[in-house]
Amino acid sequence: MSWRTRILMHSFAPLIKNRTAKFLYFPSSQPFSQREKGKTQSYFFHPRPLGEGLAQRGVRGERSSYTALSRRRIRVFPSLPEKVFLSMCAILFFALQPSCNAGVKPTTILTLSDGTRVLYETPPKELAHLSKKFVQAWLELNVCAIRAYYGRFPLREFRLVLKADAGSEEIGYGQAMPGEMPRITMYVGTRANAEEFRSSWVLCHEMTHTAFPSLEREYRWLEEGMATYVEPIARAMTGIISVESVWLDFLKKTPEAFENISTGLNGERDFKRVYWGGAVYFLLADIEIRRATKNKYSLQTALRAIMEQQGTMNNDADVLKVLRCGDKAISVPGSAKLTVLETLYKQFGTSAYKPNLEKLWQDIGIERTGETVRFRDDAPLAGIRKGICSRASTSCNDNFIRATKEKYGKRKKNRLSV
Ligand SMILES: [Zn+2]
Repeated sequence: MSWRTRILMHSFAPLIKNRTAKFLYFPSSQPFSQREKGKTQSYFFHPRPLGEGLAQRGVRGERSSYTALSRRRIRVFPSLPEKVFLSMCAILFFALQPSCNAGVKPTTILTLSDGTRVLYETPPKELAHLSKKFVQAWLELNVCAIRAYYGRFPLREFRLVLKADAGSEEIGYGQAMPGEMPRITMYVGTRANAEEFRSSWVLCHEMTHTAFPSLEREYRWLEEGMATYVEPIARAMTGIISVESVWLDFLKKTPEAFENISTGLNGERDFKRVYWGGAVYFLLADIEIRRATKNKYSLQTALRAIMEQQGTMNNDADVLKVLRCGDKAISVPGSAKLTVLETLYKQFGTSAYKPNLEKLWQDIGIERTGETVRFRDDAPLAGIRKGICSRASTSCNDNFIRATKEKYGKRKKNRLSV
């Protein structure tokens, strides 16, 4: 056990209710003097037996704390000066944490073209070949897609942490965490080349999470489904990936999300169900909003309103409030109120709803042939399909390719050439 943990445990022991404190276990290095079962003692400040009077006061409900030592429960009574001293230890412990961390992991501030500030933590030496300009170009590429979808980047600033994935050629995993300074952590393959950085979905996926409020754990499928749906569309809208690749992924990955199901998606943990089952919910919502409003509004309208009114990842929000906020935004003034998000949520979340995917693909006019997709423009909802991935005025790709070619195209071909 580290000295920090030990100080923390000892500091908090007298402050915790008896019920909790009795589970604390102080291992081999004993701060207390040898004691016997049934004897009461002061805390480690004064390792001496206390008087009978104090022990009786403790029995009647005075604050006391317990510690388990060799399976024997001993009652101890910290005095007031001890409580003050130990509380100060706890406060100092937490107060020193940020400065300790800052000393270990320095950061550089990268200011993106839209003013977003990124506190870029110095990466491990395995990723030292990634220059700050390259990382900035990579951030700009994905922020560009997010801005095309949401109108602005959701956060004013965040921390970027890169972790090295030794020997890998991929950007395999990422994580977005809320907090006073929200953090995006990316696991970057040490052999990943510039094309992998350009085409990888992970950073954009994590960024979409920042645009949606945090829900209770059982609605994770809504958070992940939203990110799984929005990320490829935002990147196709801005030319980073092809429209074909968006629909090919849907055709390949969604059927497994609805195989042998017996419950709704609320509380679901299975990866395919959470990510791709959730993505189908958002696809059906997008189609229905566009159909009901004659393409005046879309899921984009609802998600922008949710971000602006219900907050970003840093806000904890109630699931129904979030969905009703989206439904309100897509209700055309003067027409009947729409409840697309809430109605579909009840189907997907609480019942073993199995959408007819084959009919859906026919209606929007997509067919899979091997590893390619054929579009049918005579399908009844072909117009809606085209609207979903319609190109934004911005193209994000070109800037990244230019930046990487200028800076990295001529050297280290295996690593960073485009
Ligand atoms: Zn995610």
